[in-house]
Amino acid sequence: MSDVPHLFHSLEHDEPFKTCLTCEQDFCDISDPYTVTKVYKGPECVFEYAMCLPCRRSMVETFSEESRKNMQNFFDKNPHIEERSERIGESQNHTDWMQDCATCRTPLSEIQDYSIACMGFGSDMVYDPFPMMVCHNCEQKIQSRLSKPTRDQWDKFILDHFDGPPSEVLKPDGVPVLV
Ligand SMILES: [Zn+2]
Ligand SMILES: [Zn+2]
Repeated sequence: MSDVPHLFHSLEHDEPFKTCLTCEQDFCDISDPYTVTKVYKGPECVFEYAMCLPCRRSMVETFSEESRKNMQNFFDKNPHIEERSERIGESQNHTDWMQDCATCRTPLSEIQDYSIACMGFGSDMVYDPFPMMVCHNCEQKIQSRLSKPTRDQWDKFILDHFDGPPSEVLKPDGVPVLV
């Protein structure tokens, strides 16, 4: 483990994420890990949040069963996830984990829009399979496998939690792959 790198700090607050978006508990006070998700449009981060694992689980449970299965399969049945784990599993340098799309292996240098996510525990970063970068193309593939109720549920989640968002935090155009 190592400290959560600056890339995964909150852009809005210019410091590491400290609390869960949903339950607002301090990450140092809970015994669960959490994920930090950021969505990039070109060089600009347009959306970010951090959420503890129990809240993440509760949110995903509101998605339809079919959507959940499709999202899970997208990662579980993808050979690149295991391959990259064997290739860079020992590395604790976050850039090694994000040099190419985790699900199609397109190099970051050839990608314009993408999402990244990492897993943290307290102030530490936990490796394998996170941190991860997924390109917009792959995200679009997953969107097409999500049901309308699931997409509606996500929109509601955004409305509930990003009421009057700061200008740099814009609503993404779909459920992030790395919720
Ligand atoms: Zn929480
Ligand atoms: Zn991809």
